[in-house]
Amino acid sequence: MSAKQSPEPPLSLIGMSHAEMVDLCLRAGVKAVHADHLRAAIYRHGITDIDRIGDIPQRLKTYIRSHADMTLPACSASQGSRDGTRKLLLAMSDGKEVETVLIPGKGRITQCISTQVGCAVGCTFCLTATAGLTRNLTASEMLAEVMAGRQQTDGQLRNLVLMGMGEPLHNYEQVARFVRIVTDPRGMAFSPRRVTLSTSGMIPGIRRMTEENLPCNLALSLNATTDEVRSKIIPLNRKYPIGELMQCIRDYIGRRGDKRVLIEYVMLAGVNDSIADARRLVTLLDGLKCTVNLLPFNPYPGSAFRRPDDATVEQFRDILIRASLVAVIRQSRGRDISAACGQLKTDVRQKRAASL
Ligand code: SF4
Repeated sequence: MSAKQSPEPPLSLIGMSHAEMVDLCLRAGVKAVHADHLRAAIYRHGITDIDRIGDIPQRLKTYIRSHADMTLPACSASQGSRDGTRKLLLAMSDGKEVETVLIPGKGRITQCISTQVGCAVGCTFCLTATAGLTRNLTASEMLAEVMAGRQQTDGQLRNLVLMGMGEPLHNYEQVARFVRIVTDPRGMAFSPRRVTLSTSGMIPGIRRMTEENLPCNLALSLNATTDEVRSKIIPLNRKYPIGELMQCIRDYIGRRGDKRVLIEYVMLAGVNDSIADARRLVTLLDGLKCTVNLLPFNPYPGSAFRRPDDATVEQFRDILIRASLVAVIRQSRGRDISAACGQLKTDVRQKRAASL
C-alpha cells in the first residue's frame, strides 16, 4: 500500500521570476507573452486578485486559480508613531509573524524588510536575537512585505532596507532572488541604489554579492572597533573577525567601482562609544568609500545596554568628521511606539499570553 502523499502547496505567483511566469503560461496552454501582463499587474500595479488582471485569457485565470496562490500576509497588528513611522506585524501563511516598518522621509518612504523569522546571529543588543531563528523567509514572503507596504503608502515607497528581523546573508538564495525581482525595471522597478542590504559581517555572503554583482547597496553593521568587544556583542565576529571583514569590504568596493558602503555603528554606552573607539574607527575606515551612520542604542525592556548621552555621541561623530569621514547621527524613528526591532512582535505575544 502506498503512503498517502500530502498535496503539493500551491505555487506563489508573488515571488515568481519572469521566466517562471513564462513557464506557468506555457503549462496553462497560453502564449508566453501573457507573462509580461502578469508581471506588470502583480509587481508594477500591486494587483493580487486574479479577476482584476485584464489582458490575460480566461484559460490562464482558471489555471492560476487551481494551481497558484496570490494571497498577501495578513496584518495581525500595527502601530503608528507621532513622527509618522508605521510598524506592521505580518502573519505568513503558516502563522509565523515578522515585522516590517514604514519610515517617512522628505517626499519618500523607506521600508525596513525582514528576511528571516527570528535570527541566529545572537547580537547581544538585539531583541530579535533573544528568540533565535525560527525559519528563513522566502523571496515571495519578502515581496509580500513590500506589496503590503505599498498598499499603505500611496505611491510614496522609494527605498527598501533589508535591516529588519534576520541576517539577510544567512538566507542568501531567497534574498538574492528578492533583490533581483524588486529591481527588475519591468516589474517593481526599485532603483538598485535605493535597495540596501545590511549584514552583521557574513564574509562568504559578501563575497558572493561581489561575484554576482547583486543589484543593491551594502551596509555593514560594524558596531565595534576591537575583536574583543565585537565578539562579545556580535558572536559571528569570532568566525569572521574585523581584519578579514574589512578586507572583504575593501574587495567589494574595489570590484564594484562606484560603490560606497554604509557603515552602521550602534552606540552602546560604556561599551563602544569612547574617544579611543572613534580613533580606531577612523583607522579602520581609512581610505574606504563609506558613510558612517551612528545609531545611539534604543533601549527596550530588559536590555542590558544603555544609550550614550548626546554629548558623547556628538563628540564621537566630530572625531570622524575631523578625519574627513562622512558621519551622520541617526536617531531611531518611532521612539514613542515599540521601536526596537522585534519589539512589536514581543509586545503582541505578551499581550496574547496575558489574555489566555
Ligand atoms: S542585529 Fe540583526 S543580525 Fe544581529 S541578531 Fe539582530 S537581527 Fe540578527
